Amino acid sequence: MTDCRFDFHCHSLASDGALTPTELVERAAGAGVQLLALTDHDTLAGLPEARQAASAAGIRLVAGIEVSVDWDGRELHLVGLGFDPDHPEVSALVASQQQARTLRAERIGGRLDKAAGLANSYQRTVTLSGQDAPGRPWFAKMLVAAGKVRDEQHAFNRYLKPGQSCFVATPWVSMDAAVAAIRAGGGVAVLAHPTRYSFTRRKLRRCLEHFVVAGGAALEVLTPGLNPQQQALLAECLRDFPLHASGGSDFHTPKQTWLELGRLPPVPVDMPLVHSLIGA
Ligand code: AMP
Ligand code: MN
Ligand code: MN
Ligand code: MN
Repeated sequence: MTDCRFDFHCHSLASDGALTPTELVERAAGAGVQLLALTDHDTLAGLPEARQAASAAGIRLVAGIEVSVDWDGRELHLVGLGFDPDHPEVSALVASQQQARTLRAERIGGRLDKAAGLANSYQRTVTLSGQDAPGRPWFAKMLVAAGKVRDEQHAFNRYLKPGQSCFVATPWVSMDAAVAAIRAGGGVAVLAHPTRYSFTRRKLRRCLEHFVVAGGAALEVLTPGLNPQQQALLAECLRDFPLHASGGSDFHTPKQTWLELGRLPPVPVDMPLVHSLIGA
């Protein structure tokens, strides 16, 4: 299936996407995707519905997740692919991340109550999202709905991004432990969107050295919107580290009309793809 259209990074309403897993899968199939991984943030809640929808739409679904991890005091994102979602180490990873997210959400809510002059920010956001551990985008949506900010970006800039009053640092799982759990479940760990961490070239290479030692096996290099310099840097990393290439749109919502499921840069013929590691 390496020559088919694929997408190994996208989000549904089970985390911070705008579409139900069924809508997402149907949209992917409509866009010509034949191999899809739903990679919601720190949850597998959308997977059963996505599986059903994929079967009905006649496309292949790979188990996926995007895990927020700590490396060297920074938050990085790993994509896990092709694991057994019922493996106890995978379940334990998801449970501990959900616990951290729930505590964080309660604290964000407490801070917003004061900073934005709202009552019950946490409960409002739980209701809006239908989740116990809503992520920051749901707080942004809640602030828009409450008339406190003009749009979601404004909510991040004013309250939710690092440095702002309602940002709450979270004790994410270590990169090593997350990779270990994904591997224990028979899956592959991918470093997601490596150009989004404001890393210098040197720091990215140091991170990848650590990632490979931890058991990381792939780098997300096929993503929309990379400039030629970034593409060259990632190609260099693929040459210099024993990593396969993954790719995904990081689709969240149809509102971002410039970004579509399965619409990735062309795959260079000699690029080793993550497909071979997950039997896809
Ligand atoms: P969380 O995992 O709850 O911290 O939420 C992170 C998500 O919020 C990311 O996956 C993006 O979808 C979104 N996000 C992160 N930073 C920003 C930002 N500065 N502006 C808008 N959206 C953001
Ligand atoms: Mn997101
Ligand atoms: Mn991410
Ligand atoms: Mn993502």
